[in-house]
Amino acid sequence: VPLAAVMTAPNQPVEVQQLPDPILEKGGIILETLYSEVCGTDVHLLHGWLEGVPYPIIPGHFSVGRVVETGGAVSDVNGKLIQPGAIATFLDVHETCYNCWYCLVAKASTRCPQRKVYGVTYSAKDGLPGGWSELIYLKPGVKVLTLPEEVSPKQFIAGGCALPTALHAIDRAQIQIGDVVVVQGCGPVGLSAAILALLSGAGKVIVIDKFESRLVVAKSNGVDETLAIKADDPRQHIERVLELTNGHGADVTIEATGID
Ligand SMILES: [Zn+2]
Ligand SMILES: [Zn+2]
Repeated sequence: VPLAAVMTAPNQPVEVQQLPDPILEKGGIILETLYSEVCGTDVHLLHGWLEGVPYPIIPGHFSVGRVVETGGAVSDVNGKLIQPGAIATFLDVHETCYNCWYCLVAKASTRCPQRKVYGVTYSAKDGLPGGWSELIYLKPGVKVLTLPEEVSPKQFIAGGCALPTALHAIDRAQIQIGDVVVVQGCGPVGLSAAILALLSGAGKVIVIDKFESRLVVAKSNGVDETLAIKADDPRQHIERVLELTNGHGADVTIEATGID
């Protein structure tokens, strides 16, 4: 029987529990977890800050694992037959309706009101729907991606859920060649956004954070300027950005501090 780390209720310690083996349906997949992650969403879950969470839950909405068994022939999003032993990841957002404004007009099915999210809005009693578990059960219809050989599971999880979040931000920011881009916050999302801004042709990328250690990582990834913000002088980084841009300021600013 698989072990899983369970959030039983908000503000309670996470408990390691033995849970029943998943029941494999036709089209379902049992995944042996290789890596999952802890992100800001999990902090929200732990404190009970999200609506409609059916505690107890198994957190972990972004994971990679080895396929143990499939319920008959199941294909990944590229139409490739998924074989036992394959290294695979999956989209945490499931059961979207393809019939609402979010799904059809906004093309943002991750906001669909019908959606269920692995590690967030499935109960631990509903199979093994989260990555903080030895096994993850992928229900029929979950979108699965087999990892290409050149991407190791460790490299994949290093990007984490921060990388697609940053990718979405960059997509919306529509950076033009030569733009000055300021990224506020240099956690996993901000760092990914800064690197993607460079890849998008930004002329200058300036990253702001209060932790020097994070700025060192940004610098080593090719960011042009880093600014360590000081709590006692919140305006000082604005002046510095103006200085670095001949008084023009940034063309694009990406907010990645996570502060509401
Ligand atoms: Zn929908
Ligand atoms: Zn996340």
